[in-house]
Amino acid sequence: DERVKEIRRELDMHVSGADVAKPCISFAHFGFDEALLNVIIKHGYSEPTGIQKQAVPVAMSGRDIIGIAKTGSGKTAAFIWPMLIHIMDQEELQKGEGPIGLILAPTRELASQIYTEAKKFAKSYGLRNGIKNDAHTTLSAPSQILALPKCRVAAVYGGASKMDQFKELRPGGIEILVGTPGRLIDMVKMKATNFRRVSFLVLDEADRMFDLGFEPQVRSICDNIRPDRQTLLFSATFPKKVEILAREVTTEPVRISIGSVGQ
Ligand code: ADP
Ligand code: MG
Repeated sequence: DERVKEIRRELDMHVSGADVAKPCISFAHFGFDEALLNVIIKHGYSEPTGIQKQAVPVAMSGRDIIGIAKTGSGKTAAFIWPMLIHIMDQEELQKGEGPIGLILAPTRELASQIYTEAKKFAKSYGLRNGIKNDAHTTLSAPSQILALPKCRVAAVYGGASKMDQFKELRPGGIEILVGTPGRLIDMVKMKATNFRRVSFLVLDEADRMFDLGFEPQVRSICDNIRPDRQTLLFSATFPKKVEILAREVTTEPVRISIGSVGQ
């Protein structure tokens, strides 16, 4: 409707795709639980960024996304928050070893930045035998809550010891894994982890992934993840080759771009 168009116009946002969720102008409208909202506020975020306003409700509605917005626009949280919600919605959370949320990043630096961001928000959640750390649990055993293991996050990338990363992945499994494509493939070959549980996949900085020659590895990883997954692809620029890959790895995506990038 008119209000939605106006919000998008103000944000210089272009959206395409059928049945797209409306943008949310405040955190309160995202439908996040209190634990996550509190951490967001604690970080001093007062308002979602432009890409977050539209990408979060679309991701929460279960749709695939092609998101194009310049560096510094808050794309990381735009995929981390819906990923966390997706993970907390799963039943039998700790029955598998491999990640539920998988994030591909082009460089070691980016992978560790995403890892840090994921960790700070994942801290708001506790998991135990697949039971959410919700109000009900709190009432029955308040002192136990502190001892609950958190939603587990790990990062793997080149230039660091494979053995150390192997050891970090093996015991007990994880929920979120961030990695550079080559090292992720190495870890699967070493049977340190597997992609069988992955149902939420993110390709971050897809344009740089191409620049660095990771296209074959990215495709190979995507081919080995269940096709009914949710896929989010983010890029600062949108050259033809990225568009082709994006169309291949997503299903009926909603395309969201901010400003003139990707036009
Ligand atoms: P991008 O991936 O688009 O380059 P980042 O996700 O790295 O951007 O975010 C850039 C910076 O903005 C980070 O320091 C992040 O913590 C901060 N940030 C993200 N979302 C918000 C928000 N809603 N309000 C304030 N700062 C934010
Ligand atoms: Mg980024």
